[in-house]
Amino acid sequence: MPIKAQAYAAQSATSPLAPYSFERRDPRPDDVQIEIMYCGVCHSDLHQIRNDWKNSIYPMVPGHEIVGRAVKVGKDVKKIKEGDIVAVGCLVDSCGECPECKDSLEQFCMTGMVPTYNSYEHDGKTLSQGGYSNVIVVKEGFVLKMPKGLDLAAAAPLLCAGITTYSPLRHWKAGPGKKIGIVGLGGLGHMGVKFARSFGAHVAVFTTSPSKKADALRLGAHEVIMSKDADDMAKHAGSFDFILDTVSASHDLNAYLQLLKRDGTLTLVGVPENDHPPVAPFNVIFGRKRLAGSLIGGLKETQEMLDYCGEHRITSDIEMIPIQNIATAYDRMLKGDVKYRFVIDMKSLKG
Ligand code: NAP
Ligand code: ZN
Repeated sequence: MPIKAQAYAAQSATSPLAPYSFERRDPRPDDVQIEIMYCGVCHSDLHQIRNDWKNSIYPMVPGHEIVGRAVKVGKDVKKIKEGDIVAVGCLVDSCGECPECKDSLEQFCMTGMVPTYNSYEHDGKTLSQGGYSNVIVVKEGFVLKMPKGLDLAAAAPLLCAGITTYSPLRHWKAGPGKKIGIVGLGGLGHMGVKFARSFGAHVAVFTTSPSKKADALRLGAHEVIMSKDADDMAKHAGSFDFILDTVSASHDLNAYLQLLKRDGTLTLVGVPENDHPPVAPFNVIFGRKRLAGSLIGGLKETQEMLDYCGEHRITSDIEMIPIQNIATAYDRMLKGDVKYRFVIDMKSLKG
């Protein structure tokens, strides 16, 4: 019997999220049915409900920072048992056979991974629907185990904001002796600061919001640079090993390329609605610099990140909201006014 799910959904790019009921599949032998407790609010949710990326499918239940309780497991499920506290991030399926999947980089699956929402499942007709909901059914291989001892609401954003910053910081070896920049102090950015600091790097935050300076230092930054202040930027020319750009709106990348050392890398994770202005070739040619990108993380690395957070007591700084306040949360997100991730308390769906 399919499961009746309650949720909030967008019906079009211009309609506000509103209550919505639909059916989830009855768990298959390799599925886990999860009662959702908390779901983080990612800027990608907002981009997609507004069709910023021109690929939205409606009705859309957003949400890919999901923490909950396993309430039913299929007979072939091995590592999860009923009652376990589990998590689901940005993807719920992939082919499992291509070289990327074999390397546990399922986010780059060559036949196409299935994002947690705004996608068709591999059957080509069922819409995947995300975590602004009371229940979700996910294949065991895409369900993570939450480490013990973390505040579960504050841990929900680890499933996207966490892994999206952890993965590139690990890949480009942020650590002792490295000067690392984090551009944009929002949901992703504040996790980037926490991880880069925890890995032992020297951390600088680039922000457009002077009011966030004290928070940036409290979160772990060694210094804060006002990105709109050309003099402040110029002081750091040629000094960064690695800069992670989490900004959700288009902006000039040349200014950051000029701050890299020889062989330094500027990695984009922010996905604005409109392209950035062009990069001047000289800004990468001189100094043999690199402009790169990164997409969330694979399942193995996401579990590694969660376990690291359990060990080092790392969670997100959050504001908990009832789902009925989602429109206000999005308004504040658009103004860059998030401290530093909204998390929906899914109990609010009932009342
Ligand atoms: P967020 O919480 O809204 O933070 C974005 C931050 O960017 C803001 O707090 C602000 O920081 C800065 N910003 C916003 N508008 C700006 C502008 N016009 N100019 C300069 N800075 C601006 O968003 P998020 O949830 O962290 O997501 C950030 C981006 O990453 C989104 O585009 C999202 O879709 C994308 N994303 C990508 C991946 C991936 O796998 N690559 C995964 C998740 C999210 P300051 O106030 O400090 O300037
Ligand atoms: Zn996200």
